[in-house]
Amino acid sequence: MIKRNFDIIIVGAGVSGLVLADEITKRTNKSVLLLEKEKNLRFEKNLCFWNIPYNILNKSADNKWKKVCVIIKGKKYSLNFSGIEYLRIKSNNLYKFFFSRLKKRKNFKIIMGANIKSFKSNNNIVEINTKNKIYTSHLLFDSRVDTELEKSKGLLQHFYGVEITFKENIINKDEVILMDIQNKKNNFNFIYILPFSKNKILVETTYFSKRTLSRFKYKQDIEMYMSRNYFGQKYKIRFCESGVIPMFKIIEKNVKNCIKIGTAGNWVKQSTGYSLQNSFIYSKQIVDCIIKEKYPKIRKNNFFNFLDNTFCKFIENNPEKAMQFFERFYKRNSLPVVVKFLTNTTNLFETLKIILSLPKISLIKSIFEIR
Ligand SMILES: Cc1cc2nc3c(=O)[nH]c(=O)nc-3n(C[C@H](O)[C@H](O)[C@H](O)COP(=O)(O)OP(=O)(O)OC[C@H]3O[C@@H](n4cnc5c(N)ncnc54)[C@H](O)[C@@H]3O)c2cc1C
Repeated sequence: MIKRNFDIIIVGAGVSGLVLADEITKRTNKSVLLLEKEKNLRFEKNLCFWNIPYNILNKSADNKWKKVCVIIKGKKYSLNFSGIEYLRIKSNNLYKFFFSRLKKRKNFKIIMGANIKSFKSNNNIVEINTKNKIYTSHLLFDSRVDTELEKSKGLLQHFYGVEITFKENIINKDEVILMDIQNKKNNFNFIYILPFSKNKILVETTYFSKRTLSRFKYKQDIEMYMSRNYFGQKYKIRFCESGVIPMFKIIEKNVKNCIKIGTAGNWVKQSTGYSLQNSFIYSKQIVDCIIKEKYPKIRKNNFFNFLDNTFCKFIENNPEKAMQFFERFYKRNSLPVVVKFLTNTTNLFETLKIILSLPKISLIKSIFEIR
């Protein structure tokens, strides 16, 4: 059996694996091996993020929108602010972006079609066996999610979306609908619209609840939305995406020198389901530690984690009050503060202002319900 040694092995060439591989190979001369189970990475999701804090994908985004809005009880709240944009990159373009940077680096190697099942960690050496090779390293970063999210008892963000191409140019391509909150009893559900061009949109139905639904139910939501908002228009569906994202902390199994990253490492912000911006922030922190020859550690902000937990508990126990929550959140706060809050970068004053704008009594009750 051939044995090959690397300083660092990363499992999974998804968002967190690629951002981390890029950061390590850019800032250190450590040798990095990236192992990915798929033979080819394709377009399977749309990844969106705010243009602040700046990251290297800003310039490569497929779409940039200056206008965003939310619709609550049929009323539209426009949330525009000069300098703030909502960006979208197709997952395949994100992969291409990082592959083209990484392939120029001598300290980087990727193996596609390597489905990693297990590894051993002994005396500061991690060993991974594939069909005919053994790879060893001092550190392993692993983006495989071990938990079966659908079977967990925690709150989930689950969604299904389709890309719709209309026959006619009928779309206002300048404005994203972040949330069109649907009036559903005992269930928090909203429709998310990304307009890609004058005749192409992504329509996604999203739930914050403990149980996922059948594909039929999500499709029914979209059909109903389409018939309410685009009655009589002819369209075709060419692409669909779906996801289940934890809105709770995944318990990480601590194995020495093996560190979970991405969704598996709780890099997703619990209240939003977004992890792209965190991937940049946490990868930088990991590499800061590697450069200082310290064990990699991420500095998660406990206060924001606590607020996220409180929010998730609130939604779990009061789905019927979520509409009022979001109405206050978006109506009473300016877009720059909202964006900073969603990316954990508000200062104490801004954070307090946001908290005071929300339904306080229900939120305080939720604090006592956090286990
Ligand atoms: C449809 C969808 C849309 C999303 N939209 C957004 C968004 O707009 N903005 C945002 O910030 N976040 C979004 N997210 C959430 C999150 O940012 C993404 O899921 C992101 O891809 C998570 O990164 P990751 O590295 O943890 O996982 P992934 O990007 O899924 O990467 C994991 C990689 O590991 C590989 N892998 C798995 N098992 C093995 C194995 N055994 N051996 C080797 N390789 C393996 C997989 O093939 C995959 O390539 C979205 C999620 C989904 C599902």
